[in-house]
Amino acid sequence: MNLKDILDEKEKKEVISAEPEMDIREALATIVKNKIGALLVKDKEEKLVGIITERDILWHLLKDCEKMMQKKVSDIMTKDVIVGIPEDNVETAEKLMTVNRFRHLPVMDGNEVAGIISIGDLVKCQLGNMKVENRYLTDYITGKYPV
Ligand code: AMP
Repeated sequence: MNLKDILDEKEKKEVISAEPEMDIREALATIVKNKIGALLVKDKEEKLVGIITERDILWHLLKDCEKMMQKKVSDIMTKDVIVGIPEDNVETAEKLMTVNRFRHLPVMDGNEVAGIISIGDLVKCQLGNMKVENRYLTDYITGKYPV
């Protein structure tokens, strides 16, 4: 299974994004309203320029609570975004998330954002694989296959 398969299976296909100039309060409201954990940050030309997650907001809130709400997305976003491509397999995405300690991986099709994969999407995919394997093993053990 590759990242394109996971994106195709996702119910929510829309990728919610923010502009670098958006203030933090609005970014947080967008995250909460859409029940997501991250916003991709795109400039006016729709180029991916960063990612901001609920963790970024939480970390900065603890550092400087008072000034936090005056900040913009571009002040606290991560600028060096690590991305996957649709042909990457699930193991590659898992490795990228584990090694780099993040839970969101944008998937780029050339210069276009094809989607975003969260650690939850990967867990769901692995769970699906385990269910199928379990079913085949059970059928095999209980003699449902012709010998
Ligand atoms: P997360 O675990 O996804 O909430 O993110 C933890 C930290 O990693 C935050 O500082 C995010 O801005 C950053 N981050 C999340 N996803 C990515 C990514 N794909 N590439 C680079 N940094 C990321």
